[in-house]
Amino acid sequence: MSSMHYAEAPCAENGCVWSALTGASRCWAHIEEPKEFVGALDIKNAVRAWLAGIDLSGRDLRGANFVEARLSGANLAGADLSGADLRRCFLDGANLHGARLTGANLEMAVLGGADLSDADFENANVQRANLVGARGPRARFVHANLYYARPGNADFRDAVFDHAHIERTIFRRANLAGASFVGSSGNANFENANVQGVRR
Ligand SMILES: [Zn+2]
Repeated sequence: MSSMHYAEAPCAENGCVWSALTGASRCWAHIEEPKEFVGALDIKNAVRAWLAGIDLSGRDLRGANFVEARLSGANLAGADLSGADLRRCFLDGANLHGARLTGANLEMAVLGGADLSDADFENANVQRANLVGARGPRARFVHANLYYARPGNADFRDAVFDHAHIERTIFRRANLAGASFVGSSGNANFENANVQGVRR
């Protein structure tokens, strides 16, 4: 492990079981100056930062470097993460409703149970990402690379996968009702998926 490694220190609040945010002594729920913490956050170098539960909704996070960062349960609704580096980032349970992730690199990111509704992943690299149980009605994956991504049990009703690369993408038991796959390439696994009204 590198020296940049976040110390997974416990929150200083008595009895709190959460970890402290990187650079703080408390978790997001107990931090005393959340605005100051967000203002001081160096998004260009947040590699491996522990930021679980943080509220960055609506923020300009273009080109941020969150490689291997812990953003589990974070509120990123409406945030602009276009071009961000999110490889192996933990976004499980995060709120990405309406977020912009065009051209973002999400290779091997963990998005299980995240809210991806109306989010835009155009041209994003989503290879090998874990999307199990994600809720993404109307999400856009136009020209995205979903090689070996795992959206099993995900809700992608009316989502758009036009011109996406879906080789080995595992849509097992996913709800794809009304989704569009026009011009997509590759052999995906649609085992027990709901493909009612899918356009190809
Ligand atoms: Zn706490």
